[in-house]
Amino acid sequence: MKGYISSIESFSALDGPGIRSVVFLQGCPLRCFYCHNPETWKTNDGMHLESSEVINRVNRNLKFIQKRGGVTISGGEPTMQIDFLSELLEGFKSSGLHTAVDTSGYVSIEDAEKIVEFTDLFIVDIKHMDNHICQQVTGKSNENMIALLKYLEDKQKKVWLRSVLLPGLTDSEEYISRISSYVRSLSNVERLELLPCHDLAANKYRQMGLNNRFSAYANYDIKTLQKIKTRYIELLGEKVVI
Ligand code: SF4
Repeated sequence: MKGYISSIESFSALDGPGIRSVVFLQGCPLRCFYCHNPETWKTNDGMHLESSEVINRVNRNLKFIQKRGGVTISGGEPTMQIDFLSELLEGFKSSGLHTAVDTSGYVSIEDAEKIVEFTDLFIVDIKHMDNHICQQVTGKSNENMIALLKYLEDKQKKVWLRSVLLPGLTDSEEYISRISSYVRSLSNVERLELLPCHDLAANKYRQMGLNNRFSAYANYDIKTLQKIKTRYIELLGEKVVI
């Protein structure tokens, strides 16, 4: 079947183990105020490609990525095109590739069931542990994300979590303790990646005529980041990556 693709990146060292191809799908129901990829929000936009064409393009990189890498499907929110996503993942698994799905967690269990078999690793963004704040930050509740993580633990699927560091929202001692307890409670979480916020998408927002709510937030200085990292390492040890 055909799906909408924002872009295909050939070499990424950041989106799963090893060197990876990353396929960015169109469509996202969230509106995170720090989003760097607002061009992926619309579902019916970008390149309209057959799954076989996408799989062929990625497979052309096979000889470079097959040793210790694979393919990651990101977005947007890739589960917005769940049947297309499922077809891609099944095709990549048939090619012998390690597969990862990078998701906001805003996905129903019914949809997760369609892809779990073909996905080796789920990379899940914890937008915010507090449901009320999560809705302010993203426009959506965190209940799906919590339910998805419970489901993935029941399935014993490997998970990497991501948390964006936002001044005053996700970097307080109280929040760090809360999220660390949650991470420790999940037996299948291999790492927690901390992503310091930055305003690098400001130009995109200007060009697209969008209101950049992020601009009110300051970028982190090295000393503050080091302090946050040290605290996380005290609580979670080697699981923490920044
Ligand atoms: S979930 Fe990702 S793509 Fe969607 S708005 Fe948030 S940061 Fe942007």
